[in-house]
Amino acid sequence: MNVRCTSCHRKERRDGDALTVELAGGLRRPTEHPTLAAWKTLRKARHDDSIVVGPCVCGQPLLGDGPGDSVPWTLDTPDGPIRVDREITGPNGPLDEDAAEALLERHFGWRLALKPGLALFQGTLMMAMLGPMMLWVVTIIIVVASLIGFSTKPGFK
Ligand SMILES: [Zn+2]
Repeated sequence: MNVRCTSCHRKERRDGDALTVELAGGLRRPTEHPTLAAWKTLRKARHDDSIVVGPCVCGQPLLGDGPGDSVPWTLDTPDGPIRVDREITGPNGPLDEDAAEALLERHFGWRLALKPGLALFQGTLMMAMLGPMMLWVVTIIIVVASLIGFSTKPGFK
């Protein structure tokens, strides 16, 4: 069976107990939160006949092209674990895919990655950089204005 990681591009070949690593991978990290990225991989695998064979060296789900059954995967959230197997079981009972995704987006979506404290810090930094910039612009305007003033004086040449 061919095994691959869609996140770090690791490739393996598994025949029974024999395992051949074709591409080590392991370095590339998902661009979104790892838990949300893992969920998206699991969700896709549920629809394209891939099976989850276990965690990759990078922590994301490793997918195989079968045959066999997926191993269950647990996604930890602040509300409690979501278990992804044939059925999806959330902290408060069974979930469908959309409900599971909504829950994970709420905790790990990129919008929440922008913390208010960070925005304040970046805003302050921006203003601190704009101050000297404005001073510089005003200085240029004064210098240019006075040069024009001199050059238009009678008898300047
Ligand atoms: Zn990987």
